[in-house]
Amino acid sequence: MDYIWLDNTGIAIITNKVAQQSDLSIIDHYIKNSDDINALQVEDLRLPKSKSYLKIIGIPFYPHPNSQEKLTSSDIETVLKQNHIFDNISLASKPRIIKVSPKSDMAIVWLDIWDVQSGQNTKLLINRCFNMGNNIVTIRGANMNLGVLQCKNCWKWGHSTFSCHIQGAKCVKCNSPHKSEHHREFDWCCKANAKINPPRLKTKKGKLCPHTFKCSNYKGDHQADSNICPFWRHRFNREWHIKKYTKIHENRSQSICSEENGARKQ
Ligand SMILES: [Zn+2]
Ligand SMILES: [Zn+2]
Ligand SMILES: [Zn+2]
Ligand SMILES: [Zn+2]
Repeated sequence: MDYIWLDNTGIAIITNKVAQQSDLSIIDHYIKNSDDINALQVEDLRLPKSKSYLKIIGIPFYPHPNSQEKLTSSDIETVLKQNHIFDNISLASKPRIIKVSPKSDMAIVWLDIWDVQSGQNTKLLINRCFNMGNNIVTIRGANMNLGVLQCKNCWKWGHSTFSCHIQGAKCVKCNSPHKSEHHREFDWCCKANAKINPPRLKTKKGKLCPHTFKCSNYKGDHQADSNICPFWRHRFNREWHIKKYTKIHENRSQSICSEENGARKQ
């Protein structure tokens, strides 16, 4: 043991070797039998945890014979529950499934698991093979999958906030050129307007803007950073994002072309 650290969140014990469950039992025993500590107020002891990243390869994307039904994260969860090699493993998030490539019928499954900091659970799993239906699949180590980034300045996907090229900022709510936190001050939507039908009332002072706008990435009634946005739901699926952006660009250039043609005809 190197030293003990005490703060208002708890007691941390720094050791010079990787602690095992048996070491925790010794400390647990000491605490429960100490007169100075009220054991009832002590939470369960645990080892510090960190996330590890794995992927499973060799899995069919359409696992059901003669069916176009796709592999789901609950399929994977069921398989993991039934397999003893995952007995002591707890997932840090739902398994994520992507196609190996758009035309492939194979999948890659990304698993984020909780592990002790030495990564001992991960080490036991890496390069293990197991049966999944009629397939032998393999577990490999993976890098942290950050997915596609969303810029918190212009709210477009595919670049980080630091590499944003636009001047100023866009509002996550209304996509107008002001910072999201200033929406309330710039919000034309909350000012009274008698000229429109039906007339708009002023939003009372101290109330949040109740108006909804279309997402600037996808035509849905949600904020650009909402977790119901299809862009958010597919944030780990780079292929999907690329496809979607290509489509949006095509549509834009088509509409620019038809505008130009229309202008020429006049
Ligand atoms: Zn940006
Ligand atoms: Zn705004
Ligand atoms: Zn408003
Ligand atoms: Zn959206």
